[in-house]
Amino acid sequence: MSGPNTASDVKTVQNLIGGKWQDSTSTRFSDIHNPSTGQVIARSPLASAEETNQVVEAAAALPAWRETPVVERARIMFRYRDLMAQHFDELAELVTREHGKTLPESRAEVQRGVEMVEFASGVPSLIKGETMANIAREVDAETLRHPVGVCAGITPYNFPFMVPLWMFPIALTCGNTFILKPSEKVPLSSIRMGELLVEAGIPDGVFNIVHGDKESVDALLTHPEVAAVSFVGSTKIAKYIYEVGTQHGKRVQSAGGAKNHLIIMPDADIDLSVKALAASAYGCAGQRCMAGSVAVAVGSVADPLVDQLNDYASGLKTGPTDGTEADMGPLINPDAVNRIGSYLDIAKGEGATLRLDGRENVNGDGFLVGPSIIDHVKPTMRVAKEEIFGPVLSVIRADDLDAALDIGRGCEYGNGASIFTHSGYAARQFKQHFNAGMIGINVGVPAPMAWFPFTGWNASFFGDLHIQGNEGVHFYTRQKTTLTRWFAPEEDNHHDPVWKTGLGKK
Ligand code: NAD
Repeated sequence: MSGPNTASDVKTVQNLIGGKWQDSTSTRFSDIHNPSTGQVIARSPLASAEETNQVVEAAAALPAWRETPVVERARIMFRYRDLMAQHFDELAELVTREHGKTLPESRAEVQRGVEMVEFASGVPSLIKGETMANIAREVDAETLRHPVGVCAGITPYNFPFMVPLWMFPIALTCGNTFILKPSEKVPLSSIRMGELLVEAGIPDGVFNIVHGDKESVDALLTHPEVAAVSFVGSTKIAKYIYEVGTQHGKRVQSAGGAKNHLIIMPDADIDLSVKALAASAYGCAGQRCMAGSVAVAVGSVADPLVDQLNDYASGLKTGPTDGTEADMGPLINPDAVNRIGSYLDIAKGEGATLRLDGRENVNGDGFLVGPSIIDHVKPTMRVAKEEIFGPVLSVIRADDLDAALDIGRGCEYGNGASIFTHSGYAARQFKQHFNAGMIGINVGVPAPMAWFPFTGWNASFFGDLHIQGNEGVHFYTRQKTTLTRWFAPEEDNHHDPVWKTGLGKK
């Protein structure tokens, strides 16, 4: 690996506080790598609780922002969307640089993020309340949606651009102020998003960025001025965020890890299924919460499926993504490389067959591991149950669809699951009964887009209102209901023609 091994000669990223980019006062730092080369490209400060509290106080631009008409707030999102379109290639290259995914994958990520801004531009239509005349005699009822206040977002490393955009465009357009605490592994995309938002005209203090780790997150979770917390990351931390945040009186939406199943029925088109399975398991080097990580091969499909999958995956080129063409890029850091290796060893130790070992035949700098296939996995094995979060596909052989549904029932997680079949009946049974919140039918990655909620179940989500779609608007607003009755004028005034309607007198 080339380049600096220490962070002393690279730039330290800044916080955005009250509209100003500022050096952190922190004395703790974390390195940011280019995973394709292993080089340290920048470093992130890790804010203290005290510094984080100052950021919360800076987000007190709230009163003026929430009184700004929603259409004016939405107009900033229109400008923001245009700036993103102008800088589309640059943004995708930045994602690839700090995360390591391939450029086409980064472009897809940026596109999904831009769609969130497009959705948020429509908030004026979604934030409207309800009314009813005569809910009681001469009493009218109405609901209005108000912003909740200061909101915080804590995001993971695997979608440096898209996941922050799941949160703040909706929150801001609904009239809240926002503090983003991006992953300390990939803060560069968030900084560029912040610069463009300032350019789009967001007022000082409405959007803030603080870089940090647990200390900073804990300060956000316990600060009395923070009203709502959105989190995306691993299940262990998601549960912690939900518990601590709600104990401190905040509303919390907290998305966690996953173990997603891909069911292949005997009548499925094998060629198409193999391509979809490989794209699902190995896209973004398996570092997606919607990655298919367990293939459930039903009946006679197992042997031909695994053979073809092995041929296809062996042909995928794993390599650095900065300038070179690769089908699959590196993992985020050396810890991830070691984690994948140890899971492959665990699988062998538990009696599964390592059909394709991603540690072999991988050349180049960076944190590289090729695609792996583990065959003859049993539902009780660790590789069947635990989130590996890398390019590893475990294959379980099941006798029938009921057995496949049982595997889902036994799963701790519940993010996504897909079926590959020509049978409408099998697809319907699967859709109705599989224990997961996002279902694909002949779709390898059933991730909903901006207009639909990201409906993880079980240990993949803690909270009530999901991220994205109308649920996002509901999460970032609270309702006020008003009942109104106007009394008729004093009897004397009834003779004055100005009050006379004739209504109610008949
Ligand atoms: P992570 O949980 O390690 O980190 C996520 C965020 O939590 C980061 O900002 C990090 O700084 C913070 N954090 C880490 N440890 C903390 C602690 N002890 N206390 C408080 N905050 C802490 O997750 P990651 O490795 O960055 O991301 C990968 C994980 O995210 C995977 O499990 C993946 O499935 C999940 N993910 C889920 C979804 C979803 O929608 N369900 C989407 C993307 C990623």
